[in-house]
Amino acid sequence: MLDYEHARRRMVERHLARRGIADARVLKAMDAVPRETFVEEGFEEFAYEDSPLPIAEGQTISQPYIVARMAEAAEIEKTDTVLEVGAGSGYAAAVLSHLARRVFAIERHAALAERAAARLAGLGLRNAEVRAGDGTKGWPEKAPFDAILVSAGGPAAPAALKAQLEIGGRLIIPVGRQERSQRLLRITRLAADRYEEEDLGGVFFVPLVGEAGWSEHPEEAGVRLRQRLPERIADAGEDLPSLDDPAFADAFERFADRRVVLLGEASHGTSEFYRARAAVTRRLVERHGFTIVAVEADWPDAAAIDRFVRGREETGGEPPFRRFPTWMWRNGEVVAFVTWLRSHNAGRRDGAQTGFYGLDIYNMRASIAAVLAYLDATDPDAADVARERYGCLTPWQNAPDTYGRAVLTAGYRTCEDAVVRQCRELLRRALEKTGDGGDALFDAAQNARLVASAERYYRIMYYGGADAWNLRDRHMFETLDHLLERAGPQGKAVVWAHNSHVGDARHTDMGEVRGELSIGQLCREKYGSGAALIGFGTDRGTVAAATDWDGEMEIKAVRPSREDSVERCFHLSGKRRFLLDFAGHPPVAEALAARRLERFIGVIYRPESELASHYANAGLSRQFDAYVWFDETRAVTPLAANAQKDRMPDTFPFGL
Ligand code: SAH
Repeated sequence: MLDYEHARRRMVERHLARRGIADARVLKAMDAVPRETFVEEGFEEFAYEDSPLPIAEGQTISQPYIVARMAEAAEIEKTDTVLEVGAGSGYAAAVLSHLARRVFAIERHAALAERAAARLAGLGLRNAEVRAGDGTKGWPEKAPFDAILVSAGGPAAPAALKAQLEIGGRLIIPVGRQERSQRLLRITRLAADRYEEEDLGGVFFVPLVGEAGWSEHPEEAGVRLRQRLPERIADAGEDLPSLDDPAFADAFERFADRRVVLLGEASHGTSEFYRARAAVTRRLVERHGFTIVAVEADWPDAAAIDRFVRGREETGGEPPFRRFPTWMWRNGEVVAFVTWLRSHNAGRRDGAQTGFYGLDIYNMRASIAAVLAYLDATDPDAADVARERYGCLTPWQNAPDTYGRAVLTAGYRTCEDAVVRQCRELLRRALEKTGDGGDALFDAAQNARLVASAERYYRIMYYGGADAWNLRDRHMFETLDHLLERAGPQGKAVVWAHNSHVGDARHTDMGEVRGELSIGQLCREKYGSGAALIGFGTDRGTVAAATDWDGEMEIKAVRPSREDSVERCFHLSGKRRFLLDFAGHPPVAEALAARRLERFIGVIYRPESELASHYANAGLSRQFDAYVWFDETRAVTPLAANAQKDRMPDTFPFGL
């Protein structure tokens, strides 16, 4: 049995207070409502995560942070009469009932309205009333209202709602030209016919469906992008030559004086992103003294590559990168790069060589594989859950229904200790083996730190969310920092990691909605303009990815970017391949600072639920210092496909 009270207090402290909800009455109200009563059966364990969750009729219960933010923005007084449109589970109405004198709530789905009413009654909240109906027309009999909160996103603020506001009353409503991506507005009625409008930021709501909302047929909702921004992007973008042209890296010379150049990727399986990063890295290594290449990979696996690029003998043992997702590092693009790096290092003394390092939690992927193998043998249901979690709990995922498949079973809980023990054992054994080479990074203290944080990581990654992500990105940043420190004041590093790690999380849903940070953000905080955060993007093509964690790699078609996405603005520029340096183009940067949907593909790609599974809001020009665009891209070439020993004599670290 979960300790709900404790979880609730933690939610209030961590997800609300720490993220800027300051109104003590709102915090108290959030602390007073048992959210577990409002979620569907089986979802109770997620009740205090800061996430929307599925309820019946394909709707969602709002995310706690958003409920608190809306309630705070509405400035509700004890004597107020409040209307909520979109009662859903009744959760927000329950919170409001603690703040206001009377609460009226309308829900479009009669079945939901009935259950919401029953829950409110069950909790003894007698000042709240729910009815079924179209809330875009308001509730004229009960008007005027001191505050109206709309919990679904419409194309505009319905006139009826504005008209039902008391003078001085506040309407809080998500408004956007596209379904599911809106700006949260506060509209205050200053006088009978005078309203003031404030923009409270980007949000993500289910559609407001009704007479003054969206129609039931989503295809009618399409909107045309204004042409201007794509044209300005085209003007500002610097065309890049083909990837094989030695001049490809010329445009990146401007970043050569940075201490850290972080190169992102919009998926873990796109050839162009690897090749572009290889070309840029090569330039930085050859001409500008970068001696650290640090990538989003497990340390022990990357260490085998490091031995290879330094021309050291392989120490035997398991070939690296043999576990899911193998294609992320076992691909032809990476082989070409590390083969070049080996020839670059040949004949150079130790200190002048460039090393290849893994930043990720020490042996995260090996541990995940061990956990799955263990659960497969002892509790296959728990193994299914674990697979789903590894695949889904990414910082851009916005698909409440996938939680359904990831609900913890009682079986998992009983396995948890054994699983964590096994992970710790695995880590200890791996660390014992790395006695060779005398790598200064891995002294005893470092090892102890690793064991401590890794164990915590294994435990919390099952519960998903910000804690696990933050622990991982902090660890990656610290590893990078140790490498730079060891290299001395002249040390310079190139980082290869996903856009979600490389970008500054503060300017995305990750930071704003989920309280997550990123390596890019931590680098900016420490190195300021000594860090360059470079994102990569594409419109369409193919990608190597799996459907589920631990699943087969497939070459999947990448859908053309959504009409309301930032990628579409780049696509409409009409240019195929270019670099956009935001520092050199303030007006374009300003326009791209606005929150727009951005696509994130990891090792999992689910085109069938693309919006919910892969798009999140970001202000691109704040997230990155520069952005590299490839309009159409191809999947990486996994090694297994061309594993002919005699043709690739130099691939021994991959065990071919
Ligand atoms: N505040 C709710 C969130 C529910 S999601 C909670 O805390 O659980 C938004 C809800 O708005 C959905 O249940 C949806 O059915 C409802 N909705 C959408 N359009 C509506 C309309 N025109 N009138 C009333 N409800 C509407």
